[in-house]
Amino acid sequence: MSKREVRVRFAPSPTGPLHIGGVRTALYNYLFARQHNGKFLLRIEDTDQKRFVEGAEEYINKSLAWLGMDIDEGVAEGGEYGPYKQSERMDKYAAYATQLVQDGYAYYAFDTPEELNEMRAKLEANNMSAKYDATSRMSMRNSLTLSEDEVKERLDRGDNYIIRIKLPRNEEIRFEDHIRGWIVFNSSQLDDKVLLKEDGLPTYHLANIVDDHLMNISHVIRGEEWLPSAPLHVMLYRYLGWEDTMPQFAHLPLLLKPDGKGKLSKRDGDRLGFPVFPLEWKSPEGEISTGYRESGYMPEAVINMLAMLGWHPSDNQEIFNIKELIAAFSLERVSKSGAKFDMDKAKWYNHQFLMRASTEDLRKMVDAQIEPKHLAKGEEYLETVLEMLKEKVSFASEILPMAQYFFENPASYDEKVQKKKWNAEVASHITAYIDGLVSRELTTASAMEEYLSTYAEEAGINKGSLMQPLRWAVSGQAGGPPIFEMLSLLGLPEIQNRLALVQAKA
Ligand code: GLU
Repeated sequence: MSKREVRVRFAPSPTGPLHIGGVRTALYNYLFARQHNGKFLLRIEDTDQKRFVEGAEEYINKSLAWLGMDIDEGVAEGGEYGPYKQSERMDKYAAYATQLVQDGYAYYAFDTPEELNEMRAKLEANNMSAKYDATSRMSMRNSLTLSEDEVKERLDRGDNYIIRIKLPRNEEIRFEDHIRGWIVFNSSQLDDKVLLKEDGLPTYHLANIVDDHLMNISHVIRGEEWLPSAPLHVMLYRYLGWEDTMPQFAHLPLLLKPDGKGKLSKRDGDRLGFPVFPLEWKSPEGEISTGYRESGYMPEAVINMLAMLGWHPSDNQEIFNIKELIAAFSLERVSKSGAKFDMDKAKWYNHQFLMRASTEDLRKMVDAQIEPKHLAKGEEYLETVLEMLKEKVSFASEILPMAQYFFENPASYDEKVQKKKWNAEVASHITAYIDGLVSRELTTASAMEEYLSTYAEEAGINKGSLMQPLRWAVSGQAGGPPIFEMLSLLGLPEIQNRLALVQAKA
């Protein structure tokens, strides 16, 4: 048998902004598809119109685009298995539910809400779980308990009905999960889930299985919260006669709060000050939640961080670009246990990618912060400042605010350094050193450094004792980038100006 083409889908419901847990599900699907030269589909599961949120679908598309996950088949991209939005496929589902009824695997249920409540109360009073299942269904109003004539009469008359799956009592349902190995459920743990609703529309379960089948999906990679639904899905494949081409399952571990206690939620983000959404989201009520993009994260860093939340490579490499991730990823190395979100690690990843960014990209990242003063000494000067300071920050947006003294006279002087390190003797050494630089026309960082050694030796003082006061006199700061690189960039005339300023003030 020839190997089946890998076709995976990310199948979000547009019920709100896509959470980073959902983004990780999309990413693992994407990596798996690319690694196997397969297809990555985006299917919008919008059967539940009551939970539909305006803008959510667009948000999903924008988020995946920002992160560089290109879609092979989807609503905007099209494809031969379309449409890719369930609300545009509504004509496809009911026939399968009816087929299941005809084959004896499902049934019409006519119970009114009052009758259902009554059943629940009765079962609970007898300490039984209030499920519509193999035990309780025979005392309910459905096509298994009513006569054939009455069922026909009700259907002809247009009575309300739903279609429920008819699950066996006490039967083992097994399937192999790529991450969790063999999973065994007993059918008695399940209930006769609704497949078709009163309005003739499918539930998530029916639509999901029908679409995965019709779209020829080979692997279902999704969050752990869907594991309890998987046995029902396996039964649906069996009952519909599609078991041979049933997709393989992989249920991903949960993303946990930083302390590991429970699922990562939007509230954790608000409380602890980190984004849980890829992009900024404005709710229909006007509430704004920040996104990774707006918080200054690079998409490559978010991808790398998410990839490592639940998956680990076979060696201890930590930094991966997308190509390397595609090559290294495997479902077998996805862990079974939940992955704790780590805010410091997220920042660390951004720092790592900032360090690897090209000067051109770095320059683009600060574009919105640029003021005329930043360009007064030219682009190259600005770019050198960015390169010099990037190792000090987690986000590109932090660079210019700490670089004020590169573009104008220091706005402030660190008082502690002044008190501790600046005195008449130090000032005269620094003046002599700077005069020496000027008379010898020493302009490169290495020449400036070498001359400080020479000067200190000749003056019989410790070179180190002049470094911080020198930095302070020129920049006003206690710390910063490598000092001689900073001096070299500022240039001799500017250094002399700065010294004059300090002397006038100190
Ligand atoms: N629509 C479901 C969701 O929102 C899809 C679950 C699945 O992948 O089967 O997560």
